[in-house]
Formats: sequence, C-alpha cells, structure tokens
Amino acid sequence: MLTVKRVPTVVSNYQKEEGEDGGRRGGGCGRNCLQKCCIEGAKLPLYAFKRGNKIVSDDWASGDGNFEQPVPFLDSFLLGEWENRMQRVLFRYDVTACETKVIPGPYGFIAQLNEGRHLKKRPTEFRVDKVLQPFDGKKFNFTKVGQEEILFQFEASEDGETQFFANAPIDVENSPSVVAINVSPIEYGHVLLIPRVLECLPQRIDHESFLLALYMAAEAGNPYFRLGYNSLGAFATINHLHFQAYYLEAPFPIEKAPMKKITTLDDGVKISEIMNYPVRGLVFEGGKMLQDLANTVSDACICLQNNNIPYNVLIADCGKRVFLLPQCYAEKQALGEASPELLDAQVNPAVWEISGHMVLKRKKDYEEASEENAWRLLAEVSLSEERFQEVNALIFEAISYSGNSSENDAEGADIKHQTPEEVDSIKESSKCSVVTGTPKCLVLR
Ligand SMILES: [Zn+2]
Repeated sequence: MLTVKRVPTVVSNYQKEEGEDGGRRGGGCGRNCLQKCCIEGAKLPLYAFKRGNKIVSDDWASGDGNFEQPVPFLDSFLLGEWENRMQRVLFRYDVTACETKVIPGPYGFIAQLNEGRHLKKRPTEFRVDKVLQPFDGKKFNFTKVGQEEILFQFEASEDGETQFFANAPIDVENSPSVVAINVSPIEYGHVLLIPRVLECLPQRIDHESFLLALYMAAEAGNPYFRLGYNSLGAFATINHLHFQAYYLEAPFPIEKAPMKKITTLDDGVKISEIMNYPVRGLVFEGGKMLQDLANTVSDACICLQNNNIPYNVLIADCGKRVFLLPQCYAEKQALGEASPELLDAQVNPAVWEISGHMVLKRKKDYEEASEENAWRLLAEVSLSEERFQEVNALIFEAISYSGNSSENDAEGADIKHQTPEEVDSIKESSKCSVVTGTPKCLVLR
C-alpha cells in the first residue's frame, strides 16, 4: 500500500482532524448540517438550469429581454452569495489579501503566496495507490458541513425553463446537487460543486455528474470561471464526489499551450494533445451537444479510474474545452522518487497548479518564482512520453467502445455503481450482442 503524508486542505469549518468523527447526535446536532439531524424543513436557494443542447448559455448574455430572470447571471448570484459569506467571516483567511503575480515569460505562470492555507494542520496519511476507494461515512464528507456554507442548490429544471427560487425546500429523496464555499479559497469565488450530496458518492467521475459540472461552466458563462477535478491519487483530499471552481482573471498557461489535433469523433468532439507544456495531456472540445463532450470526457475519465491511473481535469471556456491530465506524482512521492526541490516547496500539484496557477506557501519560493522553476516542478508530475502514449491507447479504446453504443448513454450514470470488472463484462456483452452471430464475434468469444 502506497501512502504519502501531507497537510490536507481544510475546505469546511466543520472538517476535523482525521480520526475525529463528527459525532452525529439525534434531534439537531447543533451544526445545522445536511444530515438527518438537521435537514428536515431546511431551505436553500435553488438555481434550476435549462437542460439543452447549447454549449454556451447565449440566451443569458444576449439580453434580448424575452424572459425575466430574478438573477441575470448565475455568475453574479454565485459571487453575491460568496461575498455574503466573506462578510460573515466564514473563510479562514482573506484570499483577496494574498499576493499574486504573473511570472515573466511566454506562458505567464501565475504565482500566489498563500501562507494561511496550510496552517494549523497536522500532516495526514493519504493512500495514493488506489484511484477508486469506497466512501467512508466516518471521515469528513460534505453532509457534515453547516448549511451556512452552502450557497445554493444547482439542478436541472423540471419544466425545461431556467428558474430561481430564493428559498426552496431540500428534496432529500432526490438528493440535490449543491454549491458550497471552500473555506480555504485560492481565489475569488472559490466554491465546490457537490453532485447529489446526500447520495454520498465517492470521488469518481460518472456521466451525469460530469455533465452537471459542464452545465455549471456553461451557465456561469464567464470565461474566467473554471471548474477543476482531482481524482484520488492526484491530490483530492476528500473522498466525497466534488468539483472545485473559482474565478481567475487571467488565462491559465495551459489554455495558451499549442494543441495538436488527434481526431474528431462522429459526434463532433475534437481531441487534441497538448504540446510544449510541462505536463502531457489531452484536450477535448466541441461536440454537437454539451452532452457529447460530457460523455466523451466521462468515458475517458472512467477508463483512467478503472485502470487505476490518477488524473486531473480542467473545464475551461464556459464548458467548451476540457483538459484531461493523467499524472503519477503521488506515486513517485510515495516511492521516494520525487525531486527534493518539489517536496521542499510543498507544492501539491493538483489541477490548478498543473494548469499553471501555482499556490506557494513560502515567501522565498514566491519571490524566486520563475518560468523555468515552474516548468521544472510541473514536469515532475507528467507521465513519460512512453507511458502517456500507452494511457492514450487505453483512453481511445474506451471511447470507441462507448461510441459504438451511444444509444446506451442514459445508462451511463449507472456505471459508477459497478466494479471495473462488471463494467468490462457489460461492455463486452453489449459489444457482442451487437455483432451476435457474426464470425468476428465468435472469434472474440
Ligand atoms: Zn446535524
């Protein structure tokens, strides 16, 4: 079993030291949490988005006045709520007071000095050799946060129209998806999207949840608002399904990297390889519908999960472009093969760092930050060219498998409940059923 020690990020004021259980007591636990003790009768704002084929929510931006919205943009509502929590002093420090600079050079890596983020916590042991781990209700999870940390519920609208309710009951049966603050923000508006929070899903991508994350990017409609995902083994610290998101008013260096097109799938999703960037990865964009992009990326992520390959995902350009970055750094670290320089800087190369936003804990590292340093640190995280091509082969095999059975999209969400073996056998059987009776299938069997 491979583990690494590091300081976990405190994302909620209710997150305790490892080993300390939140200790649920009946009849209201005093934390006003999302569990049985406190959820009855609770209300939260609800933003219900319109499911549709759109890639960007142009109808928000066009301002044609065809419909009246209590909030003109999800964007402004989210930030208003976030600032409200800032006034209520729910954050552990004032991120707007953290020094930030663009490191000189063609890529424009962004360095932030954040000395407060990792204070007052003891290092914790994380298992890094398993991307899929079962949910453990005894550990911190998002049902234990206080309701004041939740900004709103984020759901697909039932009647197909965008709707907003300032005070909506929490439908426990249907386990709402919620947006919560991250009490250790690394930028303005740092939030967590927690799909179907009460279902207590472990940290793993499934089709439905990834589509939800793309919808959030599209609904916010602000290119400075990106969502990110870290798998277990790739610097996720909480094994309860969540995406992160925040505003950064600058392009991420990875967004500026050149791309080499590999292929365009039948559904219009274009896949490219990131070039001239320290971390190797794939870029997915386009598709006839938002769902096409979501399905293809989800298939790729599920493939990585089933093959136990840690990865990070960045959702950029209002949900139109997705970066997928397999990585191996935690394993390197556990095996004692990581460079002392990176260990020394205590940089956790999660999605934001890999994308080029470096959160540094020591003033010295901040002051001496250079493009060369940033590049060298990130290059440590990347798969080798050889391994990357092997991983790509797995991904493309998985995508073409799913592509053959696109009529099964609706079943995709169920895959999360299945073991990799089950998924494989299902794929195998569905593939065979398509070609039953042909000599080729007999050979396959
Ligand atoms: Zn409670």
